[in-house]
Amino acid sequence: MGSQVEFMIDSIDWRDLIEIGILAVGIYVVLRFLRNTRGAGIVRGLGLVGVGLFLVAQLLIAQFHLTELGKFLDYILTTAVMGLLIIFQPELRRGLMLLGHYRGLRLFGAEAPQPISDKLANLAMALSRDRIGALIAIQREHSLEPYIETGERLDAELSPSLLRAVFHHHSPLHDGAVIISAGRIAAAACQLPLGQPSADAPKTGMRHRAAMGLSDETDAILLVVSEETGRISLARRGVLEAVPRENLCRRLAEELCPCETYRSVGKRFPNWRSLWRTRWFGQRRNAA
Ligand code: ATP
Ligand code: MG
Repeated sequence: MGSQVEFMIDSIDWRDLIEIGILAVGIYVVLRFLRNTRGAGIVRGLGLVGVGLFLVAQLLIAQFHLTELGKFLDYILTTAVMGLLIIFQPELRRGLMLLGHYRGLRLFGAEAPQPISDKLANLAMALSRDRIGALIAIQREHSLEPYIETGERLDAELSPSLLRAVFHHHSPLHDGAVIISAGRIAAAACQLPLGQPSADAPKTGMRHRAAMGLSDETDAILLVVSEETGRISLARRGVLEAVPRENLCRRLAEELCPCETYRSVGKRFPNWRSLWRTRWFGQRRNAA
């Protein structure tokens, strides 16, 4: 027996070490995955005893050529694996769902998230139809933190239904502006600085003046829905511009495209092609 063990140790080469390494990593990953599950204690206890007994049994089988016992152990192993799969079925399902949320695997068929521009355009059109006034500031490079502090912090997912509820007449948060930062609803009921009405529109109301004011002081894009007329406007660099419904989605995408691209890749790598396209078309529009 001793010589057999010595022989086994001598015959270990680099391939065996790689196999042992892969097995060790596999066991570690399984134990980590099951760390906070119902059966973690049972698995760790029974698993370690089971693996130890199994290795001893394999050694004995090889030493004394106990082929029948070897077959029996194989059956037990298969049954144990099936049993574990059944016991941990909820955990496995959870793990597979987490894999589905992993960004790298979304390439393989899962739906891409709806862009902010689409969500905001659909929301603005719905609010306009129902004559619900709204003012939404979308942060770009400049921080809007000082204005976020004047309102009610939400830090919520950008959900059109939530925004509809915020701007509804009976909502305690409908007065003031919603601020969107890093693709999330940062705050509602925020007070924005008022801009000066232009000479050709001296009766511009407070909501629209607030949109002009913030877009003048920062690089934010402001989306306004008029409660009185249902008109949808965008404010950028202090200039307010009414946008027809059919152009709204495209205009928002053009204005927000570089920010959305930054956000989707962790604010590190801009999509240079869309940045260039936006700048190029933006310049051509301004020149026209
Ligand atoms: P609408 O066309 O929807 O009536 P308006 O430009 O005529 O808009 P007002 O009628 O004066 O503007 O709208 C008042 C609303 O504008 C307020 O209820 C409030 O929600 C919002 N508002 C006013 N001042 C500010 C401000 N400084 N910052 C943010 N929101 C503001
Ligand atoms: Mg008004």
